[in-house]
Amino acid sequence: MKRTETQALIETVMSDLAERSSFLGIEDDEKRRFVCGSAKEILKTTDKVIKSYIRVSTEKDGIVRIPAYRVQHNNISGFYKGGIRFSEFVNEAEVENLAILMTLKNALHRLPYGGAKGGVHVDPRKFTDKELNLISKKYVQRFSRDIGPNHDIPAPDLGTNEKIVDWMVGEFKTIHPGEPYLGSFTGKSVENGGARGRREATGRGTFLSYSWLLDQWSGTHANGTDINRHKQWDTLKTLRQQAEDGKAIRVAVQGFGNVGGVAALEAYQYMEYNHRVVAVSDRFTTLYHEDGLDVKKLIEYTKNGRDLPSNREQLLEAGVTAQVKPVEDVLTIDTDVLILAAIEDQIHQDNMEDVKAKVLIEGANAPISLEADDYFEREGTVVIPDILANAGGVIVSYLEWKQSRVTELFTEEEIIENMSKQMIETLKNVYDTYFSSVGQTMRTTCFTLSLERLTSLLYRHGKLF
Ligand code: NAD
Repeated sequence: MKRTETQALIETVMSDLAERSSFLGIEDDEKRRFVCGSAKEILKTTDKVIKSYIRVSTEKDGIVRIPAYRVQHNNISGFYKGGIRFSEFVNEAEVENLAILMTLKNALHRLPYGGAKGGVHVDPRKFTDKELNLISKKYVQRFSRDIGPNHDIPAPDLGTNEKIVDWMVGEFKTIHPGEPYLGSFTGKSVENGGARGRREATGRGTFLSYSWLLDQWSGTHANGTDINRHKQWDTLKTLRQQAEDGKAIRVAVQGFGNVGGVAALEAYQYMEYNHRVVAVSDRFTTLYHEDGLDVKKLIEYTKNGRDLPSNREQLLEAGVTAQVKPVEDVLTIDTDVLILAAIEDQIHQDNMEDVKAKVLIEGANAPISLEADDYFEREGTVVIPDILANAGGVIVSYLEWKQSRVTELFTEEEIIENMSKQMIETLKNVYDTYFSSVGQTMRTTCFTLSLERLTSLLYRHGKLF
């Protein structure tokens, strides 16, 4: 889903809200349309786009100039918040799209944050540790006036991790001596004030968004009352029946990093219903085994940034039995559930009809186009959208930011319990609304709940006259 699609969906939802007679308590239709029109303009556009070039001296190519971005979309619901990604595909439109999605995600989950995102146009695998350290420090130097614990709080994302965040915090502290610095970034190592379980939180939350729907939510609605979304409901019922009949629910996972690796492990270890991870992939390889892959061994093998095993010798070394398939096969493999945990724009008009999974979960941001989303809705496929599914990381980031203010470490159990509790509240709200309504996709339901909150805040803050 591209920036233009995100903005188009905001437009559609805001136009619908403008016609809802009780919205914001404004009875006068003209006034309500005016107020919603103003909110639409504010939320469709971005507060600030900062672009800079980082210059670093590399061993191989001498001085290189690297485009770097920080985009601050909106802060009506709190300080700007969003990760920094290092990827050779980073561009301004993509970073802006991700910043908008952060605003919507934080509002949906009622976190006291607005939305931002950062990006550096590099393939981190092509740089030495020393060069990455320089790039990270220069990023903070370039954007130091725009970030900070009470203004804009970055975190890791695709291609970045706690090591990079620790370097960035170190540089922030050097630039701002004597100022509080622990809350300037989240996703730090535990030794450096990070939250226990932060790295795993997004993958765990992603799987929870599905497992809670299948097990808890469907269980409490087993008699089907209040259900108007019959095709999607039948999909869930069929899956539950399949597991109860002793036939494992098959899961495929695209991406085997922070999000995908952990989500795959959650599926592998899930006890309530019988699940089997039949395929996983990274940027080079899809591994497939119809009887299930040993995810634990694959996690062990890929520790320290190694790619998935991709030939016989490597599979032997990993102790894993699997067929090696082309990377794109993970999307169209015969499976019941597909977790997308790699990058944007993976399922679109050209391949949507080849997807066999009946449940799609967006661990990554924006992997499914709007057109494909509408197609899946018509087909009865359950699509759990990014701003709902992948919020575990930012929820734990909030706990990390809170703990930085009291300099006290929460236990991993407290973190997971807090994260799950907060996510489940939002999951319930979205699933109750979506399954009892007709017509809209689950993404539109999420956008609606989020934009209701953002518009209400803008209105209360007196911004919509
Ligand atoms: P990561 O860098 O740890 O892992 C990315 C994985 O995707 C790797 O296995 C990589 O090989 C694979 N990949 C990259 N390009 C691919 C391609 N073209 N085809 C198949 N696989 C490919 O990144 P991550 O932190 O796991 O993030 C993954 C996604 O989740 C991103 O979209 C990110 O924005 C989103 N996300 C991450 C977090 C977080 O807390 N890390 C939070 C919310 C959303």
